[in-house]
Amino acid sequence: MRTKVEESVAAVFRGVGQPLSLERFAAPQLQGEEALVRIRCATICGSDLHSYFGRRHSPMPCILGHEMVGEIVAMGPAGAKDVRGNSLALGDRVTWSMVWSCGECYYCTHGLRPKCERLMKFGHEEIAAGRALIGGMAEHCWLPEKTAIVRVPENVSDVVACPANCATSTVAAVFRNAGCVQGRVVVIHGAGMLGQTACAMASIEGAAEVIAIEPDAGRREQARRFGATAVLDSALPAADLLARVREVSAGRGADLGLELAGYPESIELGVTLLRPGGRFVMAGSTFPSRPVQLNAEQVVRRLITISGVYNYSPEDLEAALAFLSQAVKRFPFGELVERSYPLSEVNAAIQYADTAKPPRVALLP
Ligand SMILES: [Zn+2]
Ligand SMILES: [Zn+2]
Repeated sequence: MRTKVEESVAAVFRGVGQPLSLERFAAPQLQGEEALVRIRCATICGSDLHSYFGRRHSPMPCILGHEMVGEIVAMGPAGAKDVRGNSLALGDRVTWSMVWSCGECYYCTHGLRPKCERLMKFGHEEIAAGRALIGGMAEHCWLPEKTAIVRVPENVSDVVACPANCATSTVAAVFRNAGCVQGRVVVIHGAGMLGQTACAMASIEGAAEVIAIEPDAGRREQARRFGATAVLDSALPAADLLARVREVSAGRGADLGLELAGYPESIELGVTLLRPGGRFVMAGSTFPSRPVQLNAEQVVRRLITISGVYNYSPEDLEAALAFLSQAVKRFPFGELVERSYPLSEVNAAIQYADTAKPPRVALLP
């Protein structure tokens, strides 16, 4: 099963403030259970923008992009396997965990694959000899052995499936961390890509109330289409927000708060909106911000649990795709990808994504 693909074009990030350059790379000679995928669609994530504009450290040169869907076009001599160990075939439409973990180190064997000691991230690796095509802004992507690959359900389109291996899986990890959602009052802070997905997931999991708190009016309206039962402007005084949450929770406060925007203000607010014994899960703070002010005595006396979620485990990717397959029937996931560009216009796509701030912009190689 040697590759017929001889070379591939990729958009290379060579420095902050420089446009990505389209460059040709030789296709890898596949070993063992490796696979080569032709990228059908990739979406631009907020963290790609952080890299491009120098708001987070990125290795260079590097092929950005980690949200993608592709089709297997070549496999190593041992064939490729999905995350469950089932054989994959040429032509299979797949996505894969953006986080590669070894499965053998201390963290991998202690239920913490996101902290693997040999962790590799697609779209976040320096280009080196023999391992160039490890990002989404390209025609092809190389999948090393042990990549957690999952087939995309037929009823999930490419653009809807693209964010599955970043945004949707992160939200799935947040919900796994949050525990039971059925019958609960859930407050979601931030209604971007993660927040909209979280509204839909809370709704599908049977939350009694799904309250989205977000400054942007357009996103608040969108949250209603994604299952929010109430939307609140984060600019309202904290006392008003607390009163609104208490109205729908028999005066107690929220059972669960999910912080998906990464703002210290929403963390500080979110903890005060919880009922005694409430749980607060944070996944938005993936960039530097000021320290958060918490009233420790209140956290203790009110039995509050606060936890952080970063990256995710292979099981979350499987959960994300199962969720999307179910959720596309009820929620307009297609509208989260506002525009598509060919790979040759990747720099225009990035500029649009950064200025217009739609939930996602797609690249179609
Ligand atoms: Zn991402
Ligand atoms: Zn490991």
